[in-house]
Amino acid sequence: MLTASCHCDAVKVQVPRKPRSLTNCNCSICRRYGVLWAYYRDAEVHLVADPGTTDEYIWGGKSQKFIRCKACGCVMQWKKFQIGEGTHTGVNARNFEPSELGAVKIRLLDGADTWKYVG
Ligand SMILES: [Zn+2]
Repeated sequence: MLTASCHCDAVKVQVPRKPRSLTNCNCSICRRYGVLWAYYRDAEVHLVADPGTTDEYIWGGKSQKFIRCKACGCVMQWKKFQIGEGTHTGVNARNFEPSELGAVKIRLLDGADTWKYVG
C-alpha cells in the first residue's frame, strides 16, 4: 500500500500499489494544477479525510470532480460522479513521498487537443 498525504496531513489517499507510470496532462486544468496522475480503479482507492476537510471543484458540465484539502489546498484526486464496475480514478502522485514512490516513468498526455499520449 502507498499513501498520499496533503501538505497539512489532514487528507490522505490510500492506493494498493505503486503506479507503473504517471500521466502529465496539458489540459486546461491539469496544467494549472501541476499534477501528475496515477490511475487506479475507483474501488481500490480510499480517500481518508474527516468530514468537512475537503473541497471539490467541478469542471463545467463535465462528469468528474477534483478533490482538494480545504486547509492547505493540495489537489488529491479526481473522481467520476457515476461509478460502476471498472471505473477509474486519478490520484495526484505529487502527494506521495518521493522516497516511497521511487522512479516512475512519466508519460505526456495531450489532453488539451488530441487526447493521445505524445511522450
Ligand atoms: Zn491539507
